[in-house]
Amino acid sequence: MDDREQGYDLSTGQGLIACPRCDALHVEEEMDPGETARCIRCASVLAKPRDGAFAQLIALSFTSMVLLVGAVFFPFLEVSTMGFGNASSLFDVALAFAEGVLLPLVLAVLAMIIGLPIARAFLLVYTLAPLAQGRAPYRHAARAFRWSEIMRPWSMAEIFVIGTAVALVKVAGLATVQLGPAFWAFCALIFVNLASRAFMCQTSIWDAIEDAGLRTEFDDASRPEAGG
Ligand SMILES: [Zn+2]
Repeated sequence: MDDREQGYDLSTGQGLIACPRCDALHVEEEMDPGETARCIRCASVLAKPRDGAFAQLIALSFTSMVLLVGAVFFPFLEVSTMGFGNASSLFDVALAFAEGVLLPLVLAVLAMIIGLPIARAFLLVYTLAPLAQGRAPYRHAARAFRWSEIMRPWSMAEIFVIGTAVALVKVAGLATVQLGPAFWAFCALIFVNLASRAFMCQTSIWDAIEDAGLRTEFDDASRPEAGG
């Protein structure tokens, strides 16, 4: 197989990059920060490395961790009607349902809006912290980044905010509703997530992990003729 001389290897896919939207295959090239690689067919962004992106992603991950902790323990909203008021945080809500039939639902909601985003932030920091300092990545960096990408669609802070906003509009007719700091923490989180998505270039992160000498294959045994 002489594909290697051309810089790619069809049997392993090394040196090739597929468009995530239309599957067109491209030969990978070294890119300088600031350059953007687009699909020749549908113009999707394939890679967009930029200077200092890793450090920015780490900072955003820490920001989202802080916001998430605040989102759990600060009051989420205060409902008052006819002089009686009650402020509760998500943590209070979770405790209130801790013994009912709704417990699985409460746990699932908390896992998706709090647990997964925090876990993702940890995994990203674990993957990127050494790379941002130009050191060798930790041993499980490839696995950590893979998990963080798997979790991405399941982190639902934004959907939670939209759902709450819709519910609040309905409740607002019955009682006075005041939004607490936790609600605004969730709103801030949306923007942090947007920024993080803008700085994130999966291709560059995988490349950085590979360039540092770490294997990124998911499962060696499932590849045909590994090393043959
Ligand atoms: Zn494409």
